[in-house]
Amino acid sequence: MTLLDGKLVAQETYSRLKSEVLDLSGKGVKVKLVIILVGDNPSSLSYIRSKKKASEQIGVECEIIAYKPDEITSEKLIEIIQQLNGNPSVNGILVQLPLPDHVYEPDIIKAISPMKDVDGFTAYNIGKVFLSKEFEHLAPCTPLGVIRLLEYYNIAVEGKEATVVGRSNIAGKPVSVMLLNRGATVTVCHSKTKDLVKHTKNADILVVAIGKPGFIKKEMVKEGAVVVDIGINRTDEGKLVGDVDFENVSKIASYITPVPGGCGLMTVASLMENTVFAAKRQNDIL
Ligand code: NAP
Repeated sequence: MTLLDGKLVAQETYSRLKSEVLDLSGKGVKVKLVIILVGDNPSSLSYIRSKKKASEQIGVECEIIAYKPDEITSEKLIEIIQQLNGNPSVNGILVQLPLPDHVYEPDIIKAISPMKDVDGFTAYNIGKVFLSKEFEHLAPCTPLGVIRLLEYYNIAVEGKEATVVGRSNIAGKPVSVMLLNRGATVTVCHSKTKDLVKHTKNADILVVAIGKPGFIKKEMVKEGAVVVDIGINRTDEGKLVGDVDFENVSKIASYITPVPGGCGLMTVASLMENTVFAAKRQNDIL
């Protein structure tokens, strides 16, 4: 069994991006990412810290604009985003989710310019993912991170049976399309799937994003499968665990992601990749 090491691949991504950012700076382009945070959700704060740290590591300026929930309405947030859309010194805009209930998330995502949507959540960028691999510009970060992990380890996707468990717009659904773009035969499972085990057991590549600790057991996995665990769950003891029973599934998988240390780190690395790409495209350097 080989670990799909998100830490290693993220660090290699950062070394490459760091030299690209330096190169851009030589051409007069200073890359900047703006993160908007509303409230003080502890997970959001921790995600933002890692995004800032990664930005600093590769030489990208990362500005965090924080608001208290009662300072913000949908209209006000849209106005702030529109100003950032029009500011040429800002290359990437990320609104940290979740937002408070009184702010309607789809309207906020819609307000972000697709050219600066480094999370890859706007309908425009998601739509491009549906066209083909060649149109996957500013793809959603978590699925992109999964693809980068598979690429790094030279894991063939074409002709393989891939099963994705979970169909959210940020993880399961786009990763399914990206695997399809690479020639896998893809089955997408969800809470209404009748015989889940039949589908998981058939998978050469099994990608799981459901949000249930240790849900995928050894008996549900084909011997030799590549197992990618997107899930990040905190146990009552405060430990981070994935959706896959790592201890037992790792005994039969050919490759498997650890949690932590797998997809979470790759999501941040992909955000950096998207930010640098956005800066290049905005400055016609591609
Ligand atoms: P989500 O929006 O809650 O979606 C969960 C999906 O799992 C849904 O499609 C749901 O089916 C399906 N599901 C739930 N129970 C199931 C079951 N028993 N059998 C089959 N399918 C089931 O979650 P998400 O945002 O995709 O996140 C999933 C997990 O990934 C979470 O642990 C989250 O923290 C993690 N995550 C990690 C990253 C990262 O950076 N690594 C990024 C995003 C998410 P229905 O559609 O039928 O309800």
